[in-house]
Amino acid sequence: MNILILGSGGREHALAWKIAASPLTDKLYCAPGNAGIAQEAECVALDLGDHAAVVAFCRSNRIDFVVVGPEVPLVAGIADDLEAAGIKTFGPSKWAARLEGSKGFTKDLCKANNIPTARYRRFKSAAPAKDYVREHGAPIVVKADGLAAGKGVVVAETVAEAETAIDMMFGGGKDNPLGKPAWEIVIEDCLIGEEASFFALCDGDNAIALASAQDHKRVFDGDKGPNTGGMGAYSPAPVMTAAMNARVMDEIIQPTVRALKAIGAPYKGVLFAGLMITKDGPQLIEYNVRFGDPECQVLMLRLMSDLLPALIAARDGQLKHFDLRWYDEAALTVVIAAKGYPGAYEKGTVIEGLDAAAEVEGVEIFHAGTTTDGARILATGGRVLNICARGKTVREAQQRAYAAVDRIQWPGGFCRRDIGWRALERV
Ligand code: AMP
Repeated sequence: MNILILGSGGREHALAWKIAASPLTDKLYCAPGNAGIAQEAECVALDLGDHAAVVAFCRSNRIDFVVVGPEVPLVAGIADDLEAAGIKTFGPSKWAARLEGSKGFTKDLCKANNIPTARYRRFKSAAPAKDYVREHGAPIVVKADGLAAGKGVVVAETVAEAETAIDMMFGGGKDNPLGKPAWEIVIEDCLIGEEASFFALCDGDNAIALASAQDHKRVFDGDKGPNTGGMGAYSPAPVMTAAMNARVMDEIIQPTVRALKAIGAPYKGVLFAGLMITKDGPQLIEYNVRFGDPECQVLMLRLMSDLLPALIAARDGQLKHFDLRWYDEAALTVVIAAKGYPGAYEKGTVIEGLDAAAEVEGVEIFHAGTTTDGARILATGGRVLNICARGKTVREAQQRAYAAVDRIQWPGGFCRRDIGWRALERV
């Protein structure tokens, strides 16, 4: 088969690595890709916002299957446009992608279907939102509706902080991460517990659980500093016991799949539930309509089965009798980011030592934001490299990953030194 992956991050490099290894794959393309993905696939410079150009590329290169990595094209309806052109695509329709595109939509869906999630209210203006916050007190969580690359959420410790967040989200100021005033915000109760990422493949009717993972969102060691897209991850997540996995499937994932089918928006693709494991059980924090980045990288290292037939079965509505096998080993990834990230950072600095790092046993390196300049590898993004490793335990995976990190010479980069601490503390 000729396969096209859409995206350019560490998630897409991990998907490309796994799909390139499939005996079903004849030719693999990735658009736009990066310097690491270029080792697995032919990278093509397509604008993912231009759906007609993506369709035209698929037609002229006889693409049999498209795998969409990031959420932005999904929410914009790229799966609908590709399917309408007769091109099989892994990823939900625009209608189903509202699970990530609109927090209000998801909260209402949860409420109507008894899916456990924090109590909430939706607001279209600041004054009633502030009244609600004063009435309920802090801590309380303020969220902007719409995609915000993980930056549209404020967990307010005080009422004053929540009021500032409300003004910021409804105002169009430069500190507003949305870049424009929110048309709606959701205010919800603050959940207490341990967070985990849960993934399920869905085919519109059926869902099968993938492995669990945990990520580290804060930029500095000890989970301090501002939120990022994710500074590292590991799998499995010790908090996700077999019993907890079963509860999440029964109480959260299956009712969501049924509810979306009932409203005429069947969910096909990977459903990523951000969970809070509270003392009363799992609660849904949010849905994402694609693999997590960097969680995908550790899932791909642990997946023994061929990924491609599973993605095709999800698209074809054939997951019912499907089974996936996983390595028992743990996997962990350390993100190396450009100094300054998640704020402003320098681009174009030179990275060396990648080959030596890749020689460490059990290590796999996925690129997130790189380009080539002749034989040199240059950093182009905020999150630049994923140094991943498998090991018998999280500790062994962690030791291997950091041994590889220490072989990389990149003065312009930094990483956290404590990825996996929560899992190690439980041992
Ligand atoms: P989200 O973009 O909705 O995943 O939120 C980003 C982060 O904010 C989550 O990973 C949590 O750490 C935190 N968060 C979001 N909603 C809640 C909540 N209701 N209670 C506690 N923390 C939350």
